[in-house]
Amino acid sequence: MQVPIFQGNGVLEYMARPRPQPQQPDDVVVKIAACGICGTDLNILATPPAHKATPGITIGHEGIGIVEAIGTGVTAMQPGDRVVIAPRLTCGQCAYCRRGLDNQCSNYQTIGTTLDGAFAPYVRLPARGLFKIGDEVPRDDAVFFEPLSCVVGAAKRAPIQAGDNVLIIGAGPMGLLFALLYRTLGAGKIIVADVAKYRLEFAQEIGVDAVINVAQEDLIARVREITNLGADLVIDAVGNQLDTAAKAARRGGQIVLFGLRPLDNPTVNQYTITRHDLTIHGAFVGLLPFVQTIQLLESRRIQPSVLITHRLPLDQLAHGVDLMRTQQAMKVIIEM
Ligand SMILES: [Zn+2]
Ligand SMILES: [Zn+2]
Repeated sequence: MQVPIFQGNGVLEYMARPRPQPQQPDDVVVKIAACGICGTDLNILATPPAHKATPGITIGHEGIGIVEAIGTGVTAMQPGDRVVIAPRLTCGQCAYCRRGLDNQCSNYQTIGTTLDGAFAPYVRLPARGLFKIGDEVPRDDAVFFEPLSCVVGAAKRAPIQAGDNVLIIGAGPMGLLFALLYRTLGAGKIIVADVAKYRLEFAQEIGVDAVINVAQEDLIARVREITNLGADLVIDAVGNQLDTAAKAARRGGQIVLFGLRPLDNPTVNQYTITRHDLTIHGAFVGLLPFVQTIQLLESRRIQPSVLITHRLPLDQLAHGVDLMRTQQAMKVIIEM
């Protein structure tokens, strides 16, 4: 098979690789049907890289496929089963794993970052990195399993009441997944803010209640206009918006910090947080959100395929990355 191998420094090189076979008892070989391009992939392929990945692997962690072959020790799935990838493989032995904080494992490996990923026709993965998903979930919804699991995990941190108004700062694919999820969860008004016109128009198309173009409008004033007191819950899907989030939340409201910007040091007016009695949650990839995410997708109450703008073949992976990076696309999936 011809697969794009990550060479470091933003370079992908297509090379011939033998079709993988099970090697260890817990190995599963998956015939990949599709794999979404993630913001993490954009960061891996940036120069200089904004996210570490091991040269020599295939990247891609938002994969859906069919089990092709299993190792001798695999009991949870068999050939023919439809599966999605839960990319973070924890060690089960470190101090955080032993506290039940699997998302903070000190020794994790990640499919598509440190191990071969799903931008390939076939990939060999350990069984514990796979979850079965029902045939009733169309491929283009199932391909959102991993990003949706991060959003489901973050939403667990800040439970909302029916009718709560939610402000989401950042209208990329993750921000809009939050919008879809909170609509399913029974939120009141869902407001989405961004600086990119394309993204805001997209948000309107999927039916959010209001959009705010921060390049042209005063976010705080608009949120007050729409919600009166401020948002009950604010999601920062950007990674440096705590100060704005604190001002946009109503007194006693909640903030979820979800976006990741390791190099930014935003200035925050701490007084607002204290005086307004705000609760702030950091939320990283989610604590064991996988089973609930499968159940949610199988219920069909969330259909994230509305975010797909492009479906490209594997030899156009770099083009798909460009489309997302230049914000000419919302979500691009690669079809094998
Ligand atoms: Zn992802
Ligand atoms: Zn661990």
